[in-house]
Amino acid sequence: MCNSVNRSQFETKLKEVYSGAVIPLTNYVNDHSTMVFQCSSCHVTFFGKPSNMVGQAHQQHACNMPYGDQSGERLAKVSTNNKARKGKSNIKNTIKQLDQHLAEGVQPKSVARQLGLNYILVMHYIKVKEEMEQAKEQAKEQGKEVAQ
Ligand SMILES: [Zn+2]
Repeated sequence: MCNSVNRSQFETKLKEVYSGAVIPLTNYVNDHSTMVFQCSSCHVTFFGKPSNMVGQAHQQHACNMPYGDQSGERLAKVSTNNKARKGKSNIKNTIKQLDQHLAEGVQPKSVARQLGLNYILVMHYIKVKEEMEQAKEQAKEQGKEVAQ
């Protein structure tokens, strides 16, 4: 674990690899915790592990590939085509709505339907959020080692 990168190292590397096109939408927790990314070149939003995003070429995000990378391993994307009916609403908006619905206790399945999202993506998002919350709690307990 001692050679895992920290958050700022990861963000620097991410910028290098994608020339700043890919931005993280969720907080970096550690190398292996899945995050949500958005690519401003192809407007795909997708899940990825930090270690993959800046790892081997075939694991990295590739523009316009169905699942955000060449091997299609990423779980899902929010397609710009699917969203067309919602006009220009961007992913941050979608995530905001997602958070809202979930906070209101709406079932993930209904949320997915309402927002036109992949159910697996919604479930994955919930898991990512839980991991983030857990990491935050841990960080609180351990001083601030994890958060940094
Ligand atoms: Zn792209």
